[in-house]
Amino acid sequence: MILGGAEEIGANACYLELDGTGILIDAGLHPRLRTVEAFPDLEALEGRPVDLLVVTHAHTDHLGGVPFVMRRFPHVRTLMTRATRDLSHIMLHNGGKILRSEVTGHVPREALEYYTPEQIELVRESFTATDYTEVSTVRGYTGRSDVQLSLHYSGHILGSAGVVIEHQGRRYLHTGDVQFVDQQVMKGALLPRTHADVVITEATNCASDPVDYVSETKKLAAFINSVTAANGSVLIPSFALGKTQEILTLLYRLMRKGTIPYLPIYSGGMGVAINKVYDHYCYAEPVRQPGFEISDIPQNSLPFRHLSKGDYFKEPSIVVASSGMLSKGTTSYRLALEWFRQPSFGIAFIGYQDPTTPGYSVLHSEHQKPFDLAGRTVQRSCRIERLRFSAHTNREPLVNFITDVRPSTVVITHGEPEACDALALSVLDRMPGTRIIIPRKGVAYELSTNLTEQLVTSA
Ligand SMILES: [Zn+2]
Ligand SMILES: [Zn+2]
Repeated sequence: MILGGAEEIGANACYLELDGTGILIDAGLHPRLRTVEAFPDLEALEGRPVDLLVVTHAHTDHLGGVPFVMRRFPHVRTLMTRATRDLSHIMLHNGGKILRSEVTGHVPREALEYYTPEQIELVRESFTATDYTEVSTVRGYTGRSDVQLSLHYSGHILGSAGVVIEHQGRRYLHTGDVQFVDQQVMKGALLPRTHADVVITEATNCASDPVDYVSETKKLAAFINSVTAANGSVLIPSFALGKTQEILTLLYRLMRKGTIPYLPIYSGGMGVAINKVYDHYCYAEPVRQPGFEISDIPQNSLPFRHLSKGDYFKEPSIVVASSGMLSKGTTSYRLALEWFRQPSFGIAFIGYQDPTTPGYSVLHSEHQKPFDLAGRTVQRSCRIERLRFSAHTNREPLVNFITDVRPSTVVITHGEPEACDALALSVLDRMPGTRIIIPRKGVAYELSTNLTEQLVTSA
């Protein structure tokens, strides 16, 4: 059953009931909604067992609802990789701060009870960390048989994992957020390509054209060279977890190769704390260059109190700032307003822009024509460029993976409806007769003729 992340990217949560043992995979928080809809729909679990909560990675749309779930099911055992546990400290406290300040009166007070700094620490103390491929055996309070479970590196961000569950001779594989090709820091996924009966997969990029790293990198370098040659600075709005570490590493490699000049890089905020966790795992994780530390890349701290007076207005520089979609009030949003006034400056968008975000409005704005930005009318003189550096797989490598695993059932989540449909069609094209489930939120699906196995999801 899907309690979140059904035909969208939201409060991801997928529930499996296996012969009396209840396993929840992820408990996300919707990245934009600030009503009760922002949390996984736990009503759908009424009367069902919840024994184990597996968190695939530390992005808010997978981790942010964990305190909400643990308030309702305080006995639940929570399992994740070591890196995800370390990152959860930064991500949950940041998410808690945003929730406490932004949530409207529509959310019952109790829903936020576990989001105070003290409660978040108590929640975190109960987390169990595991190594990749280590097998855990679980049997819930009402479980009638053992369930074996292991996490496998999924290539998306530090600590990210897919989940393999074995039960009574049947295998289930949940991809988590997955990338099969190498990024700058992280290597491609190492999900097992052995047979699984059921594959539950993400579909984020399945409707868009394939992303080509090489041509996007050339485009980025050309944009930086052209803006800085005109004495301008480049702003790169970036998510603090994952994107920031990847883009910093890419910029540094481009400088070392001489593709772009050595320019001052400005960054800061939550990204700096996250860089340190990446550095801590620079030998332990499947990284491309063991021992390489993000903190070694020369960076200047953003002057958060005086953003409009930074030295990036005096000399050509690159500023990497969150949020990735210019959410109102964030550092990248405030800097973008300054950038709009500078004709020689440029903003490079490197990731997906949700249609409801200021980033999307800027991306679709016209040069020196008024447009609406989060409720205020503005216009921009600076240049913009759109690039795609995704931490999610293209459709083709995903379909190849699914074909190798040869499941009889494929459950498609974590994607807009077009992306889910596009993946479904490709899978059916390669493996006619496969049962495809694009689950609706809160609806239970039988995964085998044996009625003891069920799936429920929500977003
Ligand atoms: Zn993610
Ligand atoms: Zn996600």
